[in-house]
Amino acid sequence: MDEFSFIQSIKQQTYHQTSLVKGIGDDAAVFRFSNEDIVTAVDTFVDGIHFSKATMDPYYIGYRALAANLSDLAAMGANPAFYLVSIVIPENWLMEEITAIFNGMKELATTYNTDIIGGDTVSGKELCLSITVIGYTKKGMARYRSDARPGDIMFVTGNVGDSQAGFHILTEEAEASYRNSDYFIKRHIMPSPRVEFAQGLSGISRVALNDISDGIASEANEIAEASHVTIYIDDSMVPVSSTYEQFPYELQHKWKYYGGEDFELIGTVSEDNWEEIMQIATNLNLKVTKIGYVDTDKRAGVYLNRNNKIEKILKKGYNHLR
Ligand code: ADP
Ligand code: MG
Repeated sequence: MDEFSFIQSIKQQTYHQTSLVKGIGDDAAVFRFSNEDIVTAVDTFVDGIHFSKATMDPYYIGYRALAANLSDLAAMGANPAFYLVSIVIPENWLMEEITAIFNGMKELATTYNTDIIGGDTVSGKELCLSITVIGYTKKGMARYRSDARPGDIMFVTGNVGDSQAGFHILTEEAEASYRNSDYFIKRHIMPSPRVEFAQGLSGISRVALNDISDGIASEANEIAEASHVTIYIDDSMVPVSSTYEQFPYELQHKWKYYGGEDFELIGTVSEDNWEEIMQIATNLNLKVTKIGYVDTDKRAGVYLNRNNKIEKILKKGYNHLR
């Protein structure tokens, strides 16, 4: 397949987004928004660093890469609209595999009515996939890490640690010896960006949000820093799946706080809005759990209460016990 027919093959016949004026097929795409704030992000995935054909079929490489991007939009409270894909294709990848990557992205994109409107296709040494997403919020309604306030409840969607557990199973080749291994693997290769939940929050005036790409320790610290607050998390409240305790305790702990790639949302909201958050979660059939609270700046950073001992948790890679 040559470059031209490849581009033809990934071009959508129809588009979901009415704001699109010109999609794939010209020098650039055109869309028109009159009253919204535009939210955009880009993420790049390199073979051997962010994924490997050995542990993940090309379909899931695409699925997961777009999921990570849509998760960034969700963490801003944005509705996804478009994505662009820049891909570097090495000689040793088959055209079917490249098509599978795009099909994986397409499955998730279809779920969220998100249209592919452009990209770039080049050859090179290493497979490299770079996705740009474009979304929008009502004017002034983007959700910032800097919006946490003392007294807020800290919450998280879904369970944490599952993705790393799935990766562990995939790479240890110990599938047979774990219960629910299919569930954990699926959480790793097909993470669910919390788009609907982020959209559901639109009636709440202030929410701080961040998505879990590096692990709660990093994400909570980013909120604490940006908002100039102290965050307390209670280990016993942090939600994990029902068979998570089958893994060695130290791994459970590491994956929960430093593992990441769960693409759940972590955030803070005023206690006054907590019931509303619970209602939104119930309507979406999504688990949302209170895991801690926000206090003033006086200690700075994030503190974890684990078995009645308070330890300060730092961003990934640093874990100083206090
Ligand atoms: P140009 O030479 O003007 O940059 P290209 O031949 O690179 O144009 O691209 C032609 C059209 O195909 C453009 O609309 C571009 O956005 C789209 N396109 C190219 N590669 C991709 C890709 N990997 N994913 C999505 N769209 C692509
Ligand atoms: Mg080009």
